Amino acid sequence: AYYVTVDKFQVGDYVLFGTYIIQLYTPLNWFGTYYRSVKDDVNAGDLLFTEGRVDFQNVCFSYTAGKEILSEVSFTVMPGQTVALVGPSGSGKSTIIRLLFRFYDVQGGCILIDGQDIYKVKQNSLRSYIGVVPQDTVLFNDNIRENIRYGRISASDQEVEEAAVAADIHHKILSFPDGYDTEVGERGLKLSGGEKQRVAIARTILKSPRIILLDEATSALDSQTECNIQASLAKVCANHTTLVVAHRLSTIIKADQILVLHDGRIAEQGRSVVLLTHRNSVSEYTRSQEDSEVGTSIQGGEGLML
Ligand code: ATP
Repeated sequence: AYYVTVDKFQVGDYVLFGTYIIQLYTPLNWFGTYYRSVKDDVNAGDLLFTEGRVDFQNVCFSYTAGKEILSEVSFTVMPGQTVALVGPSGSGKSTIIRLLFRFYDVQGGCILIDGQDIYKVKQNSLRSYIGVVPQDTVLFNDNIRENIRYGRISASDQEVEEAAVAADIHHKILSFPDGYDTEVGERGLKLSGGEKQRVAIARTILKSPRIILLDEATSALDSQTECNIQASLAKVCANHTTLVVAHRLSTIIKADQILVLHDGRIAEQGRSVVLLTHRNSVSEYTRSQEDSEVGTSIQGGEGLML
């Protein structure tokens, strides 16, 4: 019911598969034919990207009539800054990411990038500036080199390897039986959750987008993996406007701004340190933890799950 136009997706496009954002690697994808849920305006032009400022202005949205998911959501992400979206399950965090990528159109208010309403620009142009690091990365049955090159099909082997180095997965790949030619997938090599996420980061580095949308994994990772991923993400996100659905305290601490969502509204907004110091909304969302435990975690809090 959500796919109403005849504008088919292309290879490289992102689609929503359930609640996950995934990238298509074949025009005939394995879960049936998907159609775009939003249409380009007849007068749509290209997005003129300048510095990467993002504005949500009184955004209202519902997936189904009568059930409002976002109500009057307004915030600004300044160029190069990172905003962490925090809040209980179902509060609308991922919806904000989906709307900025224009999987759906808003029903009230507007979303601006560098002052231009994303509703009025071509989807492909909008998406060419945005990179998504999804929570779950889909790897396909090909070798690891091609799996990374998928971020930018025209990338050379050398660029693929440089991206792998930056994502801190290069040495891991060299340890595989056939290095970059090692097959991944059903019959080939199986990668751990952390390794798959680093492949996604390498792809994003290759794409070199100006705005990054990051859906942080909710699954717990061992501390070394966590550390590696945080380091490679920091490289990708540095000086890029970033919106992150944050589940880890370490991510929230580093953000320039945090937005606490509750029932589709911004319940609180500010710099993380201030919110954490006051031990209000952020600590409320730590899973079954007492305040005192949160206090302890802040000092040694790398990788703590929220
Ligand atoms: P979580 O932390 O669990 O991922 P979230 O804060 O990211 O949650 P959203 O995924 O944005 O929450 O969902 C917000 C609300 O919208 C939820 O009540 C969810 O059930 C509903 N919702 C999400 N996707 C759809 C959809 N495709 N159709 C109808 N309702 C949806």
